[in-house]
Amino acid sequence: AKKAVLGPLVGAVDQGTSSTRFLVFNSRTAELLSHHQVEIKQEFPREGWVEQDPKEILQSVYECIEKTCEKLGQLNIDISNIKAIGVSNQRETTVVWDKLTGEPLYNAVVWLDLRTQSTVENLSKRIPGNNNFVKSKTGLPLSTYFSAVKLRWLLDNVRKVQKAVEEDRALFGTIDSWLIWSLTGGANGGVHCTDVTNASRTMLFNIHSLEWDKELCEFFEIPMKILPNVRSSSEIYGLMKAGALEGVPISGCLGDQSAALVGQMCFQDGEAKNTYGTGCFLLCNTGRKCVFSEHGLLTTVAYKLGRDKPVYYALEGSVAIAGAVIRWLRDNLGIIKTSEEIEKLAKEVGTSYGCYFVPAFSGLYAPYWEPSARGIICGLTQFTNKCHIAFAALEAVCFQTREILDAMNRDCGIPLSHLQVDGGMTNNKILMQLQADILYIPVVKPSMPETTALGAAMAAGAAEGVGVWSLEPEDLSAVTMERFEPQINAEESEIRYSTWKKAVMKSVGWVT
Ligand code: ADP
Repeated sequence: AKKAVLGPLVGAVDQGTSSTRFLVFNSRTAELLSHHQVEIKQEFPREGWVEQDPKEILQSVYECIEKTCEKLGQLNIDISNIKAIGVSNQRETTVVWDKLTGEPLYNAVVWLDLRTQSTVENLSKRIPGNNNFVKSKTGLPLSTYFSAVKLRWLLDNVRKVQKAVEEDRALFGTIDSWLIWSLTGGANGGVHCTDVTNASRTMLFNIHSLEWDKELCEFFEIPMKILPNVRSSSEIYGLMKAGALEGVPISGCLGDQSAALVGQMCFQDGEAKNTYGTGCFLLCNTGRKCVFSEHGLLTTVAYKLGRDKPVYYALEGSVAIAGAVIRWLRDNLGIIKTSEEIEKLAKEVGTSYGCYFVPAFSGLYAPYWEPSARGIICGLTQFTNKCHIAFAALEAVCFQTREILDAMNRDCGIPLSHLQVDGGMTNNKILMQLQADILYIPVVKPSMPETTALGAAMAAGAAEGVGVWSLEPEDLSAVTMERFEPQINAEESEIRYSTWKKAVMKSVGWVT
């Protein structure tokens, strides 16, 4: 059969905490042509520890690429039309590997992991000067969340890592670096790099000078020779070394939340999006200014779309547990078999009946930054059943978003008039309606929810030397919007929200 002729196509790897995807877009319309997804295993070897296998992650990327290319073939689309590949990834997750063998020296320590709590306590006792030392350079509070402390833990506790550093064989990277190094050849000439957005989550990166910070590396005692080169989010890093897309340039790289900001076209000061995945992340573009929060938000690099392009910053509200609570109900309690089933349970009752679920499994992130918190379900009565708990779990995601939106509005001065959303959980219509009710502003969702991948594809397609995507709004003509308007009155919404805050206070201080 004759193969259909299309505009240039761009692929995107979206390596998330829950799953890996590869997606192919038409650069003319942003239409999603084909994709493939594979769920990723999470290991919990001890209480509070979360690990993934870097080789499984890499394998899943190859599998998704091969399967997507097969599907394109079935659609009579020639894969030689794919002109570039972008990478977006779960951020902060830390890998150390051997550059001579390509073997990881330990499992990936996932962003949610809490093993570094004592590392953080020890470090915070010896912060030089004032407490602002880390925050003023990185925009981040000293927390288990960021890569530097995970890397410190690996250097302190894993003999193989120590030995590889001594023998000059160790490389450190977040998932983007691990993937790009491996995909561009690994031990045979792989490119060891990261982009400014991912670097800004390591806690070793100075977000003003856009370089690894010598003083921070000294403070965390991290050898700078194991760090990747920091590049912009849109430039050719290297070429695919194997597989169906061998020879195609990898030319976009963004941490998943930055990628979603780009994919939602939030390019103007004050434009924001909220992504509901494993966690929940609200980012607001603050333009070329680095804004520091007074209300528990992070300052982070939003993107830098080209070597000679300016850097943009964002304020970020991070919630550790959102979709992860649904996965927990599925895997640990078994009250649902698939994540989608949660909607059916919640719909049956349409209320939590006074039950509140604070899923502080990894402590509380924004705006509290409270490592001592742990999850609680409260307000139970004889009447409560699994449907109410399902509803309370969805409501928890909405309340957590309300808390970070309130903080964002206070920091920015101008309240958001609506909320642009995306991510795996936004397929849940009850959740979206609840969110509009709890925020009391409209929630707006693109018909194509894969905005993270789209952002990475846009960055890749716009790179110098690729030049197939112009980043103008008309390039998204295939994307339409769905709106959820608030339906309950503000008073009712406020009562529910203040009870939630009471529940949050009960979750704090469980661990000392
Ligand atoms: P990530 O990018 O962190 O890997 P995704 O954006 O792929 O996450 O979203 C997956 C998460 O969303 C999982 O935690 C899953 O439990 C949750 N999820 C998926 N579909 C639904 C649904 N219909 N209702 C509620 N949660 C869902």
